[in-house]
Amino acid sequence: MIRSCIATTLRNRAKTAIRFFVSIVFSPVAFFLAFCFSTVFPADSGIFGSEIRTLEGTYLRLRTDLPSSTEVDGLPAVFDAAVPLWCRFLGISPNRCDGWKMDGCLIGDFERFERAGLVREVPDLRTGFQLNRKLWVLEQASAYYRRHLLLHEGVHGLMAHVFHGLGPPWYAEGCAELLATHTLRDGKLEIGVIPGHRDEVPMWGRIKLIRDDIAAGKGRSLRDVLGLQPGEYDAPNAYAWSWALCVFLEGQPEFTGILGGMTNVLPPGRTTSECAETFNERFYDRIGRDVRSQWEAAWIDFAGRLDYGYDRERARIDDLSPGATRWNGRNHQWRVRPDRGWQNSGLRIQQGDAVRIAAAGRFRLGNRPATWWSDPNGITIRYDRGRPIGELQMTILPGPETSNANTAGDDYSRCPFLNPVSIGTHCEYTAPVGGTLFFRINDSPADLADNDGDVTVSLEKASGNTIPGS
Ligand SMILES: [Zn+2]
Repeated sequence: MIRSCIATTLRNRAKTAIRFFVSIVFSPVAFFLAFCFSTVFPADSGIFGSEIRTLEGTYLRLRTDLPSSTEVDGLPAVFDAAVPLWCRFLGISPNRCDGWKMDGCLIGDFERFERAGLVREVPDLRTGFQLNRKLWVLEQASAYYRRHLLLHEGVHGLMAHVFHGLGPPWYAEGCAELLATHTLRDGKLEIGVIPGHRDEVPMWGRIKLIRDDIAAGKGRSLRDVLGLQPGEYDAPNAYAWSWALCVFLEGQPEFTGILGGMTNVLPPGRTTSECAETFNERFYDRIGRDVRSQWEAAWIDFAGRLDYGYDRERARIDDLSPGATRWNGRNHQWRVRPDRGWQNSGLRIQQGDAVRIAAAGRFRLGNRPATWWSDPNGITIRYDRGRPIGELQMTILPGPETSNANTAGDDYSRCPFLNPVSIGTHCEYTAPVGGTLFFRINDSPADLADNDGDVTVSLEKASGNTIPGS
């Protein structure tokens, strides 16, 4: 038996409300016993030939021709550990999985499985495939990616079982990718992670695909991802974008539970883009149409800065609402933290307003190997997105009433959050567009945890020689 408990670990859930960040912990000893005694069966007695053996778990029966190893024989236990986490994400009781079990094939030699009649329903197996309660995964050179694909197809199987449908492609594949991307350390399975380093997830490559697309001018807006068509999933890029969107949504407290909850609008039995339009309309209803352009900009900020170890809690934009105060020429002052992403000033300015912004303060940007101190001009020995880390930056987010494709940024080269103004210790500036002022201290979103201190930023009327905003 696997002794397991659900640990609502990870960071303060009440505070962050990122509810998929849960993990199942089971002791290394129990984990070892689990695959030793509950999963290993000898090769089937002649039904599929002696080369194919069966590993038995609670939710997965896995047939494989791969040699016995800790990694391979432990797969049903990993799958069993993932199922309660998936149920939690989908907002369903694990009881809904009583009696549900996937029949899986982990294939080393495809012809061997053909001879055994185990791949008749598979059209063109490149990596993995799921059909009702069956799944197939081709052996991978990476133990991580083998597990990943198995979990990915398992998520499809569970959603098909519980909801009788998978939803539009971005949702089906994005959720499967979200719930398959994992860490497994010392018998502890954690799903929904942004991997800390590429070496942790050999062959996964989702972040590189996104970066390469953006560099090639093919960055996708939120609307683009929602509109991905089934045929586009022939390339791995579509999986990467779908994953990233689901990670982004789950990382926003405003959207917590939305993804899992969308399953209740799945029309039963309609598994593909048949239902995409209705589904996406309802999705937009839930995220709020009136602030849609703001979320487009926040999404592009996220995707444009996505990196291994991206710190969702610290890097996300907490407040996208239009500033409550309209600037009337008076002086204003704020504190800007170096351990956060974009911070809303609460102040709206108008197109043509000329302002002087000054900043002062000394803050910490890291403590390895020694403390890195910076002022608002930044430290020129390390750069992020081409600017010194520690540099004070500003941008203007147009309000929903003025936002459109040209200003709100469903294009990576025009998104205000990815194209900030460098302020440093002072700057005079004429606003090229009206909107709410946001500030940040430049740093990698993976390196915010060890930053500390703050900067005092003040705004007043410009003295004269402003630089024109672009
Ligand atoms: Zn899939």
